[in-house]
Amino acid sequence: DNGQPKSSMHGGRLVVVTGPAGVGKGTVETALRKKHPEVWVSVSATTRKPRPGEVNGVNYWFMSEPEFAAKENNGEFLETALVHGMAHYGTPLKPLEEHLAESTPTILEIDLQGARRVKQRAAELGLEVVYVFIAPPSFDELIHRLISRGTETEEQRNRRLATAKVELAAESEFDVTIVNDNVDRAADELWSVIAREYGINA
Ligand code: 5GP
Repeated sequence: DNGQPKSSMHGGRLVVVTGPAGVGKGTVETALRKKHPEVWVSVSATTRKPRPGEVNGVNYWFMSEPEFAAKENNGEFLETALVHGMAHYGTPLKPLEEHLAESTPTILEIDLQGARRVKQRAAELGLEVVYVFIAPPSFDELIHRLISRGTETEEQRNRRLATAKVELAAESEFDVTIVNDNVDRAADELWSVIAREYGINA
């Protein structure tokens, strides 16, 4: 990497933000959006019911299973997942491509499995991507964050810890690591990655 912005058939590289569960990806993304509202963040489609306060097109695009399946068959998703065997989730492809074509700084926040699926599909789609891994300051800190959620049984907690170990090891699969020791600092670092990719003077 020579540090120059990458040009592509799209205006800019898609910035995929991933990392272990509990690392605060969403919090960093929210802090980034507050400072830089010009960043566009992908809105996923889901077949689950909206929770109180959730708004269609803001939190998710809410749709029925048949509607989702039709879109999936039509190739309208970059990737999809069945979560907890309950509901389908997917990343709509067209809005991503449209924002990238306009060189709008574009972010997709997604779990590790989803990021891996994006990796597999990006090449065939001609989609240029930079992968940002959000890491906890330490394994102990991640454990602390996972446990302080405090809503789970010991068995569920142990499973989360085992998963956390495996997920931390995924760091090497991605291009850039940002340590979330401080949300504002991490958001600034994410912005500098975006600014570099889109040739913006940070
Ligand atoms: P929730 O229903 O609580 O909002 O989200 C449940 C899970 O679905 C979360 O782990 C979230 O990361 C995942 N999820 C949300 N949107 C997508 C998506 O577009 N693709 C994938 N692979 N997972 C998603």
